[in-house]
Amino acid sequence: MHDTVIDKVYIDGEFVTPHGTELFDLHNPATGKVIGQVRLADEVDVETAVAAAQRALPAWSATSKEDRIDALRRLQAAVEAHRDELLEAITVEYGAPVRNTYMVDTPAGAFADMIKTLEEFDFTRTIGRATVELAPVGVAGLITPWNSDAFLISDKFATALAAGCTVVVKPSELSATQTNVITQALHEAGLPKGVLNIVTGRGDVVGSAITRHPDVAKISFTGSTATGKVIAREAVDTLKRLTLELGGKSPSIILDDADLEEAVTGALMAGFVNSGQACVAGTRILVPESRQDEVLSLIKKKVEEEFRPGDPRDPATAIGPMVSEQQWERVQGYIHRGVADGARVIAGGPGHPDGLEGYFVRPTVFADVTNDMTIAREEIFGPVLSVITYRDDDHAVEIANDTTYGLHAYVFSADPERARRIASRLEAGRVSINGGYEPLSPFGGFKQSGIGREYGVFGLEGFLEPRSVMV
Ligand code: NAD
Repeated sequence: MHDTVIDKVYIDGEFVTPHGTELFDLHNPATGKVIGQVRLADEVDVETAVAAAQRALPAWSATSKEDRIDALRRLQAAVEAHRDELLEAITVEYGAPVRNTYMVDTPAGAFADMIKTLEEFDFTRTIGRATVELAPVGVAGLITPWNSDAFLISDKFATALAAGCTVVVKPSELSATQTNVITQALHEAGLPKGVLNIVTGRGDVVGSAITRHPDVAKISFTGSTATGKVIAREAVDTLKRLTLELGGKSPSIILDDADLEEAVTGALMAGFVNSGQACVAGTRILVPESRQDEVLSLIKKKVEEEFRPGDPRDPATAIGPMVSEQQWERVQGYIHRGVADGARVIAGGPGHPDGLEGYFVRPTVFADVTNDMTIAREEIFGPVLSVITYRDDDHAVEIANDTTYGLHAYVFSADPERARRIASRLEAGRVSINGGYEPLSPFGGFKQSGIGREYGVFGLEGFLEPRSVMV
């Protein structure tokens, strides 16, 4: 018996039975038990969805800014109305602790943020004798990972819609329950048929068919760097516009003047965000040699007291399970690798936490890590952090930038101006100083963390083509 059976895809304004017939089991990662099934779409469903998006494009791309703002308002309200259901789906399906309420507030927030952006945005600009019109790029393919399913579908869709594009969304099959809740909500906003199409299926089938489709003008992808490279290769035949939001190995730099209580809490929160399953996780904690002992004893104490894994439905729980058994094994492999390479476990370690079934990992912090070790170089995507010491500020910057990634960085200091000078030397798309945050600021990666930017004006421009008209 399965609790949830999701047997419809969303095409042309309707929930329809997909052409694809494969059934995929959905698990509760806190118990390891099967909780439902999703029927996966295939290439034929992609054809139908792209055709619907193509038909809807001329009318939607001709809408006014006011029409689009009105649509975004309705979408925001519809998503807010499904908040409780979304929380339930996120908790049961990937074990996100219920106290992480940002996971259910950010999807509606994505529509609110895009309304603010659009209100200020001008679709025409004057340069000398030219009028530059910013035209929608066309049908957009939006491919999302499981770890921020509802937020990323909402964010990418809000942005594409604001630009005047119509879309085909390919969410991860691992998060089909959340996708189902968010699809219901978006449907209730009553948009014109074909503007939004959502087809859940396998990446190498449905994702690939969207990427190769000649009538899709742009791909906005969030996922691993490895998949991003496959997409870039497949998109080249049709020269698609690409936004790629990929992996990270972000540094948290604690400067020698920092309030260590606050800095260590901030660094652990950045490292263990979403139980470590976050692209922005600050997984390398850079600590001045002179303050290493103090930092390590604070880390040990705080991990044991404040970052306990447990039942995600319990508001006291800070760390949930890994999304799947495969991910649990991958993370364990990295913990063993750290030990084998000579790093010292100061919190956590291999194996399950006591008394917890399911795919739980012990939040683990390694000391004596050098930046050339595998655990400091590869994205682990679990609650496993490395403490690396540095001699002086220049050395900290050198270590921080010594990575193929460049998504995010965190700096902690008693002197924000000093932290700002360090920030300006970091190869990272976003730098947060002492927890600073601005949702409308551009988000994306330097180096192999991606191409292009999302959110706010920069995100919107990613779905627009400038057309210069010269008289
Ligand atoms: P993934 O790359 O395995 O999958 C992401 C999506 O791509 C899924 O929907 C998948 O089905 C699809 N896909 C797989 N192969 C494909 C192909 N050949 N063609 C088209 N689509 C394909 O990533 P994941 O495991 O779902 O998510 C975790 C990864 O996502 C991590 O690396 C994480 O850092 C990254 N991530 C990045 C950001 C960001 O904004 N930079 C945000 C969240 C997650």
